[in-house]
Amino acid sequence: MVTKSKKLDVIIIGSGFAGLYMLHKLREINLNAIIIEKGSGVGGTWFWNRYPGARCDIESIEYSYSFSDELQQEWNWSNRYSDQSEILKYLNHVADKFDLRKNIIFNSTVLSSTYQEKTNEWIIDTESDSFVTKFCVMATGTLSSIKEPNFEGLEDFQGELYITGKWPHHRVDFTNKKVGIIGTGSSAVQSIPVIANEAKKLSVFQRSPNYSIPAHNKPLSRSEISNAKSNYSEIRNKAKYTRAGIGYNQFQERKILDFPKDYIIEELNKRWNIGGQEIFTAGFTDVGIEPEANKIAADFVKSKIKEIVNDPITADLLSPKDSIGCKRLCADTNYFETFNRKNVELIDINNDPIKSITKEGLVTNKRDFDFDILIFATGFDAMTGALLSIDITGKNNKKLKDKWKNGPRSYLGISISDFPNLFTVTGPGSPSVLTNMIVAIEQHVEWIFDCISFLYRSNKNNIEANLEFENTWMDHIEEVASNTLRYTCNSWYVGANVPGKKRVFMPYAGGFGKYREKCDEVASNSYTGFDIS
Ligand code: NAP
Repeated sequence: MVTKSKKLDVIIIGSGFAGLYMLHKLREINLNAIIIEKGSGVGGTWFWNRYPGARCDIESIEYSYSFSDELQQEWNWSNRYSDQSEILKYLNHVADKFDLRKNIIFNSTVLSSTYQEKTNEWIIDTESDSFVTKFCVMATGTLSSIKEPNFEGLEDFQGELYITGKWPHHRVDFTNKKVGIIGTGSSAVQSIPVIANEAKKLSVFQRSPNYSIPAHNKPLSRSEISNAKSNYSEIRNKAKYTRAGIGYNQFQERKILDFPKDYIIEELNKRWNIGGQEIFTAGFTDVGIEPEANKIAADFVKSKIKEIVNDPITADLLSPKDSIGCKRLCADTNYFETFNRKNVELIDINNDPIKSITKEGLVTNKRDFDFDILIFATGFDAMTGALLSIDITGKNNKKLKDKWKNGPRSYLGISISDFPNLFTVTGPGSPSVLTNMIVAIEQHVEWIFDCISFLYRSNKNNIEANLEFENTWMDHIEEVASNTLRYTCNSWYVGANVPGKKRVFMPYAGGFGKYREKCDEVASNSYTGFDIS
């Protein structure tokens, strides 16, 4: 049972990878800390995203905590890429092993977080409780606030309606059902092949096609597991300073444009056959920067789509027009192959837009569809959605939603000026979603832990990002991002998927290793860029 004391040292919001580790870490200095969690269990994104085919696109050996050698030695991952149920099992194991549940309040949604200047404390209000804390750690996730479907007639639909990002806990049976799915991002790319295997008919409504690399998922052999276990320290240390927080892949510092065409194709083929989006993108550094280099990799993937998909019109519709990697690259199992099935059809909603949802299904300009099940795989209000869903008020009654009305502003993606003693784990302005999230989370949690320990050690009560440093960091983010092709398309990285959201490139694109060095330097200089009192 969670302690009844409502006056705390630290309140952590969210019990995903970030919140669980933060709670565990804070116990080292005996602080009175709790987690407040909306769900009925731990797991964050892996608690909510239970859609068919949900699987991580970073390899299991990399997508796991490094902080406990005992944990990494005792846990055996079954597959190269873990599915949602295995990751959730792992996080439940972590919660039990480190006895974390006794300090987690489940089924409790934080509505507001308000700074009290007189007492230098935060008041955290849920639907039923009010807590007082000195520090507030937002471990609310980057892709945790779903974009609620907003289609005309939605309430009329009489069949089963699901959203990939908040999938029910019971099994959904697609047998003999007519199913419609809207969206073709990562969640849809993973679920479409699995649903198509069961459903009588699957209609896929596509607005923009996505690049996807085969995952070539497979069970991990005993020797692969023991090899990883013997080399964990090397893998983890390497991951800490790479561009994407991944230590185990085939990252190469070289440019595609420096090599002859034959060699490039051979190399891209090799990487396509190994599989995995991170392995494919780690081949050449200029693909994400130079349009000419990018076109070579993009054309290669489009040629693969043409090879796989039998119908040339469908193959063409499935071939993205943007540069590759501009939107988050997907990793799939039989995604393009699924469009060769007789029970699957692709509807290009640019050519034939959805007019409305109906009692029976939906209507486009040209056709009527009947569905038993309708699925929205329409994505998230990324990076800022979860934070702004809480009414956060800082100094001088400043609201976070007002401060961020023209896009998120933060120093290092970890602290926000006018919001003292509040930290964001993998917040906008940090590399987060452009890296292996677990490595990014561990780095932030350890940095926040060191910072809080420093404040207690030096009898300081208050830390706040300095506005000037925050502005300089924001300019730096913009400058770095604008040199990449990711800056150019309408992705959730820039908020373009949410109508009305200000277009700002939100994550830090300068590479995880460099970012870590910057954070270490700030800390070792007694927190340069922070006002401490
Ligand atoms: P997403 O990438 O944002 O994809 C949403 C899809 O829905 C897009 O195809 C989008 O089209 C479409 N869409 C959105 N609103 C629409 C509308 N009103 N009408 C028609 N189509 C609409 O979302 P996601 O697939 O959930 O993935 C989000 C991120 O979560 C991924 O990029 C990844 O970082 C993470 N994720 C990771 C994994 C993994 O580890 N394997 C799995 C799932 C998700 P447009 O592209 O035209 O906007």
